[in-house]
Amino acid sequence: MKLLEERIRKDGQLGAGNVLKVDCFLNHQIDVDFLCELGKEFERLFHDCGVNKILTIEASGIGVACLTAQYFHVPVVFAKKSKTTNIFGDVYTASVESYTHGTTNTIVVANRFLQPGDRVLIIDDFLANGKALEGLIKLVRDAGAEVVGAGIVIEKAFQPGGDLIRSQGVRVESLARVASMNAETGEISFI
Ligand code: 5GP
Repeated sequence: MKLLEERIRKDGQLGAGNVLKVDCFLNHQIDVDFLCELGKEFERLFHDCGVNKILTIEASGIGVACLTAQYFHVPVVFAKKSKTTNIFGDVYTASVESYTHGTTNTIVVANRFLQPGDRVLIIDDFLANGKALEGLIKLVRDAGAEVVGAGIVIEKAFQPGGDLIRSQGVRVESLARVASMNAETGEISFI
């Protein structure tokens, strides 16, 4: 998506450890009008898939998932990163290694929000090694629901997550695919 590539080139900052920061429109400050354009694009890509639920992971996925859901007219469920006391009843869980924090979290969704027969579109901000996406896919499958695909805002295609998840037969649509980024020169190229 050209608009997104231009925005990443204009506002993206490169940090240590192959981290791309897009805090001014996606990860800290949210440019709502811009994320709505991304949401419309996800709807265009997945509109004929019978999506009845969108699943994401807290915290950074929630904004873009909600702004996408308004075009599908479906609810958003977000996986919580720890089993908090305000989740009642049975839960689905998965273990996910965090790319940006290096820690491992148990992600949790209450059983009642993922049901057999649900057709789930997973939305997330970044795809790097694929751990977050793998965890979310596990939650959906444990519930007996179906993953219709994953909509990713930014895939760092030089990292293994995209190939890994696609090789498992899951449709992954990324709105921007970064081919390379150089923290020293600030250069970012796209596929
Ligand atoms: P993965 O699990 O695919 O290795 O990483 C995906 C998760 O890590 C995303 O949910 C995102 O929050 C975070 N992440 C991975 N790479 C980046 C990055 O370059 N920038 C930012 N802001 N987050 C990232």
